[in-house]
Amino acid sequence: MKCPFCGKDMEKGYIQSRDGVIWRKKKSAVSALACFASDAVDLGTSDGNPFGGSFAVVYRCADCGKFLIDTQNGNHTES
Ligand SMILES: [Zn+2]
Repeated sequence: MKCPFCGKDMEKGYIQSRDGVIWRKKKSAVSALACFASDAVDLGTSDGNPFGGSFAVVYRCADCGKFLIDTQNGNHTES
């Protein structure tokens, strides 16, 4: 994947968390039920491993420092 900011190649990797990967409009106390907040977007998925936690596929641009989160977790055709 090419970086949409600088056009260089991005490196595929993962953000992992034991308790989910949640995006919210405002930073707030992280609770066990944060995924049920009305503004919560759950970026993570699980691969079924009970010890694997939650992960999101993230592309990193080492050149300009941007990270791009793929909410489809790689389930699309790479170009
Ligand atoms: Zn870049």
